Amino acid sequence: MNAATVLDFFKEITRIPRESGHEGPMTAYLQEFAKARKLECRTDKTGNVVIVKEAAPGKESVPTLVLQAHQDMVCEKHAHFDFDFLTQPIPYEIEDGWMVARNTTLGADDGIGIAACLALLDSDLPTGKLECLFTISEETGMDGAFALESGFFDGKTLINLDSEDEGQLFVGCAGGLDTTATFEFRREALRKGYKTLKIKISGGKGGHSGDDINKERANALRLLIRFLYTELQYDFQLLTLGGGNKPNAICREAEAFIAVPADEVEEMVEDAKAFDAVIKAEFASSDPGIFITCTPEACLVRPIEEGDAANIIMTLLGCPHGVEKMSMDIPGLVETSTNLAAVRIEGDVLKVVTSQRSSVVSELHAMAERVEAALFLGSFDVEHHGEYPGWKPNLDSRILKVSVDSYKRLFGTEPEVKAIHAGLECGLFLEKFPGLDMISFGPTLRNVHAPGEKLELASLDKFVAHLTDVVLHFA
Ligand SMILES: [Zn+2]
Repeated sequence: MNAATVLDFFKEITRIPRESGHEGPMTAYLQEFAKARKLECRTDKTGNVVIVKEAAPGKESVPTLVLQAHQDMVCEKHAHFDFDFLTQPIPYEIEDGWMVARNTTLGADDGIGIAACLALLDSDLPTGKLECLFTISEETGMDGAFALESGFFDGKTLINLDSEDEGQLFVGCAGGLDTTATFEFRREALRKGYKTLKIKISGGKGGHSGDDINKERANALRLLIRFLYTELQYDFQLLTLGGGNKPNAICREAEAFIAVPADEVEEMVEDAKAFDAVIKAEFASSDPGIFITCTPEACLVRPIEEGDAANIIMTLLGCPHGVEKMSMDIPGLVETSTNLAAVRIEGDVLKVVTSQRSSVVSELHAMAERVEAALFLGSFDVEHHGEYPGWKPNLDSRILKVSVDSYKRLFGTEPEVKAIHAGLECGLFLEKFPGLDMISFGPTLRNVHAPGEKLELASLDKFVAHLTDVVLHFA
């Protein structure tokens, strides 16, 4: 087993269609692989596969080790590039030490994890019993991991091969849930002599509500609400309010239409200019592109009733956003956070979307309750959905110790031990297999989930050497 064999398996995998939800050909390939080598292979009803390799002679007493990767890949391509992921092999090039797919995703996430498992199963390394677990539809909601049934594998130690930075060992991830709320409001007539204005905040970086929540980027919605709140002391009518999109994205753009007395239009434009200077100064380091515009523009929607509008603005201003708590075990890790993700109006109902994350389940629930309470104060109806569990870091883990010792022995440097503030399948495994000792690592990938995804070949050498050494020392 070496990097070249792993790469050969990966090249074979690039020829097998495996878009999330369409992993059939990949599942069949794995079953064939096992059959050809007379290895035990089980498939559950969702399509998760486990291939078992019995212990080498003399290694029967070594505890079973589970190696895990996901079968599916994100299928993204440049719009101009004519390509069908369901039938065509992924085109790639080897260039400057990288394997790269120029116009599509490469699928090294997580094809390289699958390839490493296959190379291990194919090798004659003197290991204990190995169970290689291949889950489905990780990228579209971790369906395979959700559907796993306890007993599908026996091992009590698992190595997840779905990480993207060589030299980093992951020992924890966040759980999460979405909290949404609705508020049915009344409308009123546009007041005589009032003129409408569009207020828009944009130019921010946005980002992922897990990975980027601690980067102090602007949340356009929060800034818009803050501006409207300071203007509440003057007479204005709120006609529309909206911004944001997905629960896991930081809101980049938000806008509202308001109406003010015709002779106060100029003043409102001036106030927005002043606010523009304030936010530019506040975000000069973290999000320098952010700006607000305020321009007279027609809007034919009937305004939201004055009291309801004030309630909406104050409730949203009181709704928490951002980092709640940092981890004291893992430096730099956000432990708990919440994202005020989106607001939109449908008919006479205002809908709010938020999402909470934490690596500690009690803190996750407490965060969701704090958001819920803020929205209850404004008489919003609140619901929680889509909870998935986290993986709390265990710094006394045996597989962590084996992996760190191995890394130091091989490369003479300390690996970084980290956790992420986003979801991994490991959190779900832990729920079904309590006490499972886990770690996650992989070679360096870049532009993951986008055309131009690439795999660094030097990091693949180190990853394969490390994985091999860990497996042998675990035995
Ligand atoms: Zn992945």
